[in-house]
Amino acid sequence: MSVQPPVLDDTMECPLCVGKGQLRRTEVLERLGMKDFARVAQLSAEEAFRREGNPVRDLSVYQSEWEQSFEFKFVKPDSLSSNERSIYERWKEIAELVGGVPKRVQELKVSETMRPDFLTGSETQGLWDPTSGTIIIKRSLLGSLSHFAGTLLHEVAHARTGYGDVSRELENELTQMLGTVAELHLV
Ligand SMILES: [Zn+2]
Repeated sequence: MSVQPPVLDDTMECPLCVGKGQLRRTEVLERLGMKDFARVAQLSAEEAFRREGNPVRDLSVYQSEWEQSFEFKFVKPDSLSSNERSIYERWKEIAELVGGVPKRVQELKVSETMRPDFLTGSETQGLWDPTSGTIIIKRSLLGSLSHFAGTLLHEVAHARTGYGDVSRELENELTQMLGTVAELHLV
């Protein structure tokens, strides 16, 4: 006895042509036996939003709590070595190169330790804290006028524009500053 293999009919209706113009995205995907991943992702994001609130906002709350928990080791200008102080004391003069200390900046502080960057984990060299109106610079930068000036001007650009790192607006400000400094140097 032999069993004939079932003969597959090679012709079939195209599942996409049937109901052409009337099929919805989900129906087309269903006929193709595919999962609608975009929809699944959207639904699960909506579900997460309902359960826990905005996850992006949660991250920023976590970030600011973490930032507030970090304790800087501030060094008073009096406690700096005379070489460090001679560099530190030029901060306003440096800011003058690009139009002066922005009004929002109340104070320049020096810290022994710096908070690691929230996203990259690398230690920052300088920081603009808009809440207290303070620029914080890492003490080790006071070993070099150019390192100190570079980071200070970077923070001045943050303070002046209000923009964060890796933004077109901050880059524009830094570009203008470089132009101003070059012009001063060359005349
Ligand atoms: Zn920055």
